[in-house]
Amino acid sequence: MIKIGGAANVDVSATCRDVAVLVGEGRRLVLVHGGSGDTNRLAEELGHPPRFVTSPSGHTSRLTDRRTLEIFIMATAALNRRIVAELQGLGVNAVGLSGLDGRLLEAERKAAIRVVENGRVRIVRDDWTGKPNRVNSGLLRMLSEAGYLPVIAPVAISAVGEPLNIDGDRGAALIASELRVDTLALLTGVPGVLRDFPDESTLIPHISLAELAGATEAVEGRMKKKLLGAREALDAGVRRVVIAGTSGDSPVRSALDGVGTVIGAAHDASSAPKAERLS
Ligand code: ADP
Repeated sequence: MIKIGGAANVDVSATCRDVAVLVGEGRRLVLVHGGSGDTNRLAEELGHPPRFVTSPSGHTSRLTDRRTLEIFIMATAALNRRIVAELQGLGVNAVGLSGLDGRLLEAERKAAIRVVENGRVRIVRDDWTGKPNRVNSGLLRMLSEAGYLPVIAPVAISAVGEPLNIDGDRGAALIASELRVDTLALLTGVPGVLRDFPDESTLIPHISLAELAGATEAVEGRMKKKLLGAREALDAGVRRVVIAGTSGDSPVRSALDGVGTVIGAAHDASSAPKAERLS
């Protein structure tokens, strides 16, 4: 299970090339992607600049009003098509989906969110984000068993059929746990969790379950969400989560081999099971 980040410094093409090599070796993969960088760009172009809010617990997220939701859907759909096209060009039979399709990914819409502005808490109601809570894993298994590689955009469906912006990391975490995968790789623009961001020489190679809460407190911004997603995946039975960069020739293989920050099971690639489970 691979999640490709949506920031501008994530190398999508290198990731697709490596996915094609692994699929050629007989590995079965599922891909989830983000779309934050493309959404920001399109939002600026369309004259509806992105806005971010911080929750009282310190998590930053995109303020998703109706127009932003439309822009998010457009941007993530375009990225989804690009990934599918690249994989098809490399001979991988990729199928692009969002969480809307076949109710692949359901989420609960928050009727109101609490945000902190100028030190005060404010309630926002026109927000179209959701917390993923259900996966149509049968659809993913069916596609995977038939030889297709699912590529999933981070748009979920609410109980009443509304599209919702979800955090790609948390969506990937839920899918990984429902599919009972061994490893969830979160590929992003940094080589992993850095003790002293942005100094890459301070990469933390391993975070144990006992250390995870402290690490989540220590990191900032978007990395907090990744560690939250990692916690959810590990609590739900995924053996390890690897946060890794996309530089280098084999970003997916090296992440699956434990290069980056390994969270959960020990930092030991040789202990990874070689069985035919989905990655
Ligand atoms: P993606 O779009 O790939 O999901 P994000 O950009 O949302 O990734 O989240 C990763 C970002 O978190 C990094 O690019 C970095 O700017 C930020 N960050 C904050 N603190 C840290 C840290 N301690 N280590 C690594 N990255 C951090």
